[in-house]
Amino acid sequence: MSSRFLMPPALVLAVLVLLAAALVSSRAVRVQNETSQWVAHTYQVIATLERTVGSLTRAETAQRGYLLTGDEAELAPFNAARLDMQANLDRLTELTIDNPNQQQRLPALRAAVVERLSLLADVIALRRAGDMPAAIALVGNHGRSAMDRVLVLTDDVRTEENRLLQDRLHRARRASQIGVLATVGTSAVALVLLLSLHIVSSRHAERLNAERDELRISREQTHETTANLHLANEQLQQATAELEQRVRERTAALVEANTELEGFARSIAHDLRAPLRNMHGFAAALIEDEGPRMSKKGLEYAHRLAASAARMEGLISDLLNYSRLARGELTLDRVDVNTVVRQVLQELAADIERTGAIIEVANPLPPVLAHRATLTQVLMNLLSNALKFVQPGAQPRITLAARVHDHHVSLSVTDNGIGIAPANQKRIFAVFERLHGPERYPGTGIGLSIVRKGVERMGGAVHLESTPGLGSRFIVELPAAEMEAA
Ligand code: ADP
Repeated sequence: MSSRFLMPPALVLAVLVLLAAALVSSRAVRVQNETSQWVAHTYQVIATLERTVGSLTRAETAQRGYLLTGDEAELAPFNAARLDMQANLDRLTELTIDNPNQQQRLPALRAAVVERLSLLADVIALRRAGDMPAAIALVGNHGRSAMDRVLVLTDDVRTEENRLLQDRLHRARRASQIGVLATVGTSAVALVLLLSLHIVSSRHAERLNAERDELRISREQTHETTANLHLANEQLQQATAELEQRVRERTAALVEANTELEGFARSIAHDLRAPLRNMHGFAAALIEDEGPRMSKKGLEYAHRLAASAARMEGLISDLLNYSRLARGELTLDRVDVNTVVRQVLQELAADIERTGAIIEVANPLPPVLAHRATLTQVLMNLLSNALKFVQPGAQPRITLAARVHDHHVSLSVTDNGIGIAPANQKRIFAVFERLHGPERYPGTGIGLSIVRKGVERMGGAVHLESTPGLGSRFIVELPAAEMEAA
């Protein structure tokens, strides 16, 4: 902000020049005044000197008149001149008090004048006494030389004063020239300043006009852009509405196609189940009834047939479970997890006993907001995996615990099994993803897909922490049942 009020360097320079010129001209005027006083003073000295010489001349003339006539009345100018002389000499001393040279000359002049006056007085006295020859002799001899001395001395004083006069007149002239120069300079600078100001202000006005024009143009452009934006916005809204409508239509079509496809898959699964059950039943009957009479190879084929049929049945039932879970409406209720766990453990009792597994359940587990059958399925799949995926011959150790936080319950199933490498921890939740062959660990590859889908449909999430060779922990997060009460 303050930089706008800073003077440009050229203006500062011009102001400085103006100030300097004003100083110079005021000094020139002062010098001129002083010099004029000194010139007047010199004229006074010269005038006083001339009055002194004049008085002396008048005294001499009076003395001559008296010499010729003997008339005492002729002496009046002499007496007056004598009185004047004293005053003039005092005035002269006073006026030249500043000049030591003149002061040195004045005593000699005073002495010469006094001598001249006393000579005049002597002549007058001789004339009065009637000694005319002596008086005339005194006038001729001493009188002339005394007057000459006075004239020489007054000449000296006058010459000095004239020299001073010339000097002072010269100084006064120079001061007046400087004054004139300073005035002319000041006027020139002021003129230049005025011109510059005029140029600067007209450029400023031009720039302001240009800026105003630019502003007007940009305002018009802004108006135009706003109008375009408005139009684009309307078009966008229209496109969005069309898009939404198309999405709605496509979704409806997709839902319809999906429902059809699911229905188709379900009916196929149902239709496949009956012949499969037959295959399984007949294979079992074959083994049971005809086993003892069959060759060893034939018996092995019959066993394989029964196993494949059982496996196919399991696959179909898992697929049906998954599709039911993905499709059907789930209503969430307060579920007592302890009861669910007890039920699951009962169903798994045979496997638990067979493997000699140790299962710890933290008591009591907090209630959750869930779909009871789905939660049962989720825990069943996690626990059966925990029992299944252990090193051959190893004793499974499983812990079921819970933690309540932020209106949520984290249920965890921790095992001491074979663990899952980090690279596989995501993909095992996809349908049919298995990390091992069925001969080592039997299964369909759908169990964890059901877990994830079921938990998500209940508004929760599932996480996995695992270290290969040490074990895994599956964490199921569900809304806490207290939330419903709140
Ligand atoms: P299935 O159990 O039928 O193989 P799942 O979908 O339940 O299918 O599991 C997918 C794969 O994830 C399993 O084949 C197995 O490799 C791995 N897995 C699942 N649970 C565990 C576990 N507790 N410990 C180690 N690996 C597991």
